[in-house]
Amino acid sequence: MTFTATSATPESDTGLPTVSHWIDGALRAGTSGRTAPVYDPALGVVTKNVALADQAEVDAAVASAKAAFPGWRDTSITRRQQIMFRFRELLNERKGELADILTSEHGKVLSDALGEITRGLEVVELATGFPHLIKGEYSQQVSTGVDVYSTKQPLGVVGVISPFNFPAMVPMWFFPIAIAVGNTVVLKPSEKDPSAANWLAALFAEAGLPDGVFTVLHGDKVAVDGLLNHPDIKSISFVGSTPIARYIYETASRAGKRVQALGGAKNHMLVLPDADLDLVADSAVNAGFGSAGERCMAISVVVAVEPVADELIGKIRSRMTALTVGDGRRSCDMGPLVTRQHRDKVASYIDIALEDGADVVVDGRGVDVDGAADGFWLGPTLIDRVPLDSRVYTEEIFGPVLSVVRVASYEDGVELINAGAFGNGTAIFTNDGGAARRFQNEIEVGMIGINVPIPVPVAYYSFGGFKNSIFGDSKAYGLQGFHFFTTEKAVTSRWLDPSHGGINLGFPQN
Ligand code: NAD
Repeated sequence: MTFTATSATPESDTGLPTVSHWIDGALRAGTSGRTAPVYDPALGVVTKNVALADQAEVDAAVASAKAAFPGWRDTSITRRQQIMFRFRELLNERKGELADILTSEHGKVLSDALGEITRGLEVVELATGFPHLIKGEYSQQVSTGVDVYSTKQPLGVVGVISPFNFPAMVPMWFFPIAIAVGNTVVLKPSEKDPSAANWLAALFAEAGLPDGVFTVLHGDKVAVDGLLNHPDIKSISFVGSTPIARYIYETASRAGKRVQALGGAKNHMLVLPDADLDLVADSAVNAGFGSAGERCMAISVVVAVEPVADELIGKIRSRMTALTVGDGRRSCDMGPLVTRQHRDKVASYIDIALEDGADVVVDGRGVDVDGAADGFWLGPTLIDRVPLDSRVYTEEIFGPVLSVVRVASYEDGVELINAGAFGNGTAIFTNDGGAARRFQNEIEVGMIGINVPIPVPVAYYSFGGFKNSIFGDSKAYGLQGFHFFTTEKAVTSRWLDPSHGGINLGFPQN
């Protein structure tokens, strides 16, 4: 495939290529006159711009998706399934190309980019089995001569709005299922790393997907608002920060749409005194600093039940000194943050920690980097004795900053976690099966790891948290994904027996 995510037309003022929309099965240059810069975070330079759609482009994208819907809905299940299988095969063969794109715009190391694609592939694989998951039910002779059955049908044009931190995986939580069951999709990816979405759309087209079934519309709030209020968009699937998720949920619900809006997180790891502290330290470092902490399932707070804190901090600290930070295209453990602005915001929490009297055990601002001087670097940071009223504890930081909070008992730890504003993921580390069983019953969090630090459910379960981590009652993928992207009709039918007739104004009773 010779596809590049950018149009051939350079921006006249910058000389850089522009990432175009993907509408009607082809790249379409933006017409709004607005663009945003896209950085290579390891180099710290703008490498391209991305088109930002205006309302006219939103209307054109949705019109194309709407026109494609009847034909795609009526395409046989067998044909749709063949295209899904072909897409899966192509994606698996060429995932290296996609990983390169992810690293160049997000900054995550290549192995992590490949891991992200693998988790997205799982959902594609689940979606290939869609015929089994959208079967209806049938009841014969519910009344004399009357049969009732249900049928699951696609919604129409559905909108997906995704965050910067998983430019391939998060869109793949939604569009493979939505498309397999017969919807057409308009995806609005993050403007920070937009090219992966175009690459996926081009690959799907190569797999045989008809034009207009999968649209990528780039943009910012203007494009998002256009989708939220568009009368031909039937549902919105959103993933991003909590304030925006709440806004999306309220706005799209008011506009009469089905909405699932997944928000931010602050994930705690509860460590009981009987835990294997080497396993805990490995897990805390992996889950705290993988992808530079830019994961909604990252561990951001270790809750140590005393007396283990001092010993555990020593073990975590020694592992942190071995971590290498650098350009994700080279061999290293951790890449840069996504933008300078985000890097500076994350680093500002280290100042807040010092002001609030916390103990900064490892300060990532002095990191030694294998990369360009202008990259958006921040090294792994460890902060002990974080006060519970500090913004370091109460806010989502979304970077390589791991906090430690000390508690006296299991009960105190559970109370602390349950008092949090978010409820995305959590983990308990212990060798006591009874304690772990009690934890999974008592904790008010959607995804729970038992001696597993990042419990992202496999594709055939569903992904989603509680409280400020989700708005709406449907989680992503799994059976809930199929439910979200289909609507059910119940059909009551009678084929008249020529010998039977007559008037009866009541409900049939036999
Ligand atoms: P973000 O909320 O800034 O952006 C998400 C999407 O919303 C993007 O497409 C963006 O263009 C759009 N957007 C931004 N501001 C908007 C506005 N004012 N109005 C309308 N649309 C707007 O999030 P981000 O920084 O790209 O991603 C990181 C966040 O996503 C973190 O909070 C992280 O926890 C969260 N996240 C959550 C999950 C989950 O499953 N719960 C998964 C991944 C990321």
